[in-house]
Amino acid sequence: MFRSIWSRRRTSRGRRPARTVFPVADALEQRRLLSSGAAASPVVPPPAPANGQLAPAHVDLGEALKNDPTVATVQWAGHEALAKKGEWVAHFRGVRGTPAQQLAAVRSLLRFAPPGIAVQRTLGSDGLVLLTAPDAATYDQLRGVLRRAPGFDYVEPNTVEFQPAAVPNDPYYFYQWGLDNNGQYTGAGYGAPDADIDAPEAWDLTTGSSDVVVGMIDSGIDYNHPDIAANMWHNPGEIPGDGLDNDANGYVDDYYGYDFANHDSDPMDDNGHGTHTAGTVGAVGDNGEGVTGVNWHVSLMALKFLNSFNYGSLDDAVEAINYATMMKSRGVNLKLTNNSWGSGDFYSQAVYDAIAANRDAGMLFVAAAGNASSDTDVFANYPSGFDLDNIVSVAASNNYDYRAYFSNYGATTVDLAAPGDTVLSTAYGNYYYFSGTSMATPHVSGVAALA
Ligand code: CA
Ligand code: CA
Ligand code: CA
Repeated sequence: MFRSIWSRRRTSRGRRPARTVFPVADALEQRRLLSSGAAASPVVPPPAPANGQLAPAHVDLGEALKNDPTVATVQWAGHEALAKKGEWVAHFRGVRGTPAQQLAAVRSLLRFAPPGIAVQRTLGSDGLVLLTAPDAATYDQLRGVLRRAPGFDYVEPNTVEFQPAAVPNDPYYFYQWGLDNNGQYTGAGYGAPDADIDAPEAWDLTTGSSDVVVGMIDSGIDYNHPDIAANMWHNPGEIPGDGLDNDANGYVDDYYGYDFANHDSDPMDDNGHGTHTAGTVGAVGDNGEGVTGVNWHVSLMALKFLNSFNYGSLDDAVEAINYATMMKSRGVNLKLTNNSWGSGDFYSQAVYDAIAANRDAGMLFVAAAGNASSDTDVFANYPSGFDLDNIVSVAASNNYDYRAYFSNYGATTVDLAAPGDTVLSTAYGNYYYFSGTSMATPHVSGVAALA
């Protein structure tokens, strides 16, 4: 059986792979016994914000800029920028001296200019000045005037798009130390500043896109969760609930994805694990609700093969992986799948081949390294340990940047670690802390989707 990787209460004796090669049936039987004894991670509700001082300092720059009467959108050399109204930065070559001398020099260069264009101040490097012009003046008009001045180099709108690292307004964002750790007190206790994935720095570049589809091969997704629903993938070729396979891909009503565990079209999460991993990849960001994913915007495809008890079988695992390849080949922009599950030392060629087909289709397969506190170079863990270069094998770190005590490791078979100890995300219609390499893996999938 394949099982999700999130249990912390697992005896290392039970998880140690046997060194003997058993017949498959025996191995499966042994694994079945193991899984029946595995306990789910204890879930702990997130602490309520204790007081106002603990709340993250939040500035909604978008709102602030919209309400700022001194800011306007300008068209600029084929770009659009938010800029201070009527203000421009210009550079003139050959202008040197003190600020006063430079001011005088540039004013002299522009003495022919029409009224309304004024040189306000120098900006600390030779020949660089702040100009004001009538609000109505366009970039092209202004440039047309300035280029008549000897030494004119360039002019740019005085943009206000230099912003601090983006911070979403989600109320529980403060507790997501894996995204941004300032040493704050979370369910994981106090942490070490910067033991995180530097999410705000990435969000300066992008907060994600619904054009990017991530396949969540897991226990399904609660597609009605208020912090997930808007980021669910919808099969564009499928009409839900009409009992027909509208896109003729072999699956009836596969609208959000598919339930390979129960062989039906409804991949609703009946365990909780899949919704938690989905939320780390892509809970809706900056919506004033709950948490944020690494991606504020993304499309989450639910590929359910783990059942309500959080285990699955090989056939369903392979079918889920192959479904991803098939949909990719049909034009769905699937970049990767998240795989917070494993089969211990059970080496499945079918799974290997399915992942190789993912690779050939141009998809990453991000996989949890497992929770047996073992060196997987010695005690194998699959699929994370397959020798395929599209597999990213993920260990778990804690909020001090140490290996989480339960996490597997391995110089060859593990690629990197990501936050996985006491991770807050979506589950059971609410928000819960879970721990495991299952929780680390979607941090990496999320970053891959952003990239
Ligand atoms: Ca279909
Ligand atoms: Ca249909
Ligand atoms: Ca949110």
